[in-house]
Amino acid sequence: MFNIVIFGPPGSGKGTQSVRLKKKYGLVHLSTGDILRDALAKKTGLGVKAQEYMDKGELVPDEDVIGMLMKVLDENMNSNGFIFDGFPRTGKQALFLKENLEKRDTMIYALLTLDVEKEELIKRLIDRGKKTGRSDDKLSVIENRIKVYHDQTAPVIEFFRKMDKYYPVDGMGTIDEIFDRLCRVIEEVIK
Ligand code: ADP
Repeated sequence: MFNIVIFGPPGSGKGTQSVRLKKKYGLVHLSTGDILRDALAKKTGLGVKAQEYMDKGELVPDEDVIGMLMKVLDENMNSNGFIFDGFPRTGKQALFLKENLEKRDTMIYALLTLDVEKEELIKRLIDRGKKTGRSDDKLSVIENRIKVYHDQTAPVIEFFRKMDKYYPVDGMGTIDEIFDRLCRVIEEVIK
């Protein structure tokens, strides 16, 4: 299996790039944000609980997200590998992922981080909010999501840097340019 994490602040383009990477490398795209939004639409127990946090731009509790991830992980263990998008988002989630992949005789090969300036993030998210009506894409919530990213999520970088698996990628420019940059890193890692 070849597993990677696509990482970066809200609005950095993780979802957009994941769709392309998934096609090119034949990987399973595991987006915790998408799974949570799906649970929310179906009004499952998890969805109802998660909504409270998501609407404020806060993180859903680790144990809920971890339980949900485990299920999808086990359902796809016969695949070529995963693109983790939106997970891990805390140090605890990072450790959990490492240990559970090791138990299954596999691992994360790279954490690809999309670096994007704050003004650009806000612009992209407000734009997306207008187009999709996503309830957390409004200015008051966006500011908190970016803050939560810096406070709780950015430490995940350190976790991967220590294992020599941290790859920063310039996330400014066109979708094609950014995709090319990501592919170049992946080709290096696969070698
Ligand atoms: P973005 O990266 O644009 O903020 P996501 O779709 O990845 O959007 O996530 C939306 C929301 O879902 C987050 O603000 C958070 O509330 C929740 N969420 C997603 N993934 C996780 C996770 N791994 N841990 C905790 N909460 C999560």
